[in-house]
Amino acid sequence: MKRIGILTSGGDAPGMNACIRAAVRAARAQEIEILGIRRGYAGLIRDEIEPLDRKAVANIIHQGGTILGTARSPEFMDSEGRARAIRNLEKSRIEGLILIGGEGTFRGATELSQESGVGVIGVPGTIDNDIYGTDYTIGFDSAVNCALEAIDRIRDTALSHERLFFVEVMGRHTGFIALESGMAGGAEELLIPEIPFSIDKLCEHLERSFRGEKRSAIVVVAESGRPGDSFRIAREVRDRVGFDSRVCVLGHLQRGGSPTARDRVLAGKLGVAAVQALAAGKTGYMVGEINWKTAYTPLRDTWKKGKQLNDELVAMRMLLCE
Ligand code: ATP
Repeated sequence: MKRIGILTSGGDAPGMNACIRAAVRAARAQEIEILGIRRGYAGLIRDEIEPLDRKAVANIIHQGGTILGTARSPEFMDSEGRARAIRNLEKSRIEGLILIGGEGTFRGATELSQESGVGVIGVPGTIDNDIYGTDYTIGFDSAVNCALEAIDRIRDTALSHERLFFVEVMGRHTGFIALESGMAGGAEELLIPEIPFSIDKLCEHLERSFRGEKRSAIVVVAESGRPGDSFRIAREVRDRVGFDSRVCVLGHLQRGGSPTARDRVLAGKLGVAAVQALAAGKTGYMVGEINWKTAYTPLRDTWKKGKQLNDELVAMRMLLCE
């Protein structure tokens, strides 16, 4: 393998830059040329491809976002768009591609590889942590710590004003961010899509808490496909049991900022592993980390097999969050 490309696609996540840096260093060490593709598949279709050297990735390890930019590309979903992308890969003589992103990115990579023969290796980069084949995705730890800092700050004001707060965190269809940030922040209740809940039960729980010694409470809500839904939940609680509350939707704050040490280390490890996999002739896999070891999962499994929340944490949440 003489020449490879790298792109970031889908939602950005802190640590993507650390991963690009690691891949560039690993490729150069093996005398493989590495080219950066700007704005994900959109840039591949538009031939936005440029060489990356060590200088290009200097001083980016601490930066959130992605120096390559990212995009969602509807054109790449059909074969005409992908044919243009393949022509550009051929023109640049790219033999293998590293794709940092989520499930959608890996679906696109699989189609591209089947239609072009180019080797593809996926790296899980998304704050949601919802990818099968890795314990953690790049960006998750940073997002959890961002949410935790917000919860800690809100606790100060909740205590002072003796208030109930709903804090809504990201997590499109999953409760990974809500579970970890809520547990770490000592939330009174977690509302996450994997665990059915009812407003009645929530009200009962809050009434019980406030009848006791509690004068303030924090409920962490996963947005789960309905950003802003915590306003509705807060209204329903007020209408049923009369508790006034405040709602704080963290939104895109959780995407930005400097990656945590854990995310940087994970990104470095997976960036190097991705280059090594391509150099060894592997294709069609995602590199992840399971029980501290590098793990290779067929790309197809990443969207066919769903990732579950950690059972032990779920079981403990009643004890730690009530
Ligand atoms: P995140 O989890 O952060 O949203 P993602 O990789 O899942 O990341 P998507 O927007 O779902 O983000 O996918 C990124 C891009 O991958 C899409 O914009 C599209 O160009 C391409 N893509 C997604 N699904 C397919 C598919 N079935 N076939 C071809 N390309 C696809």
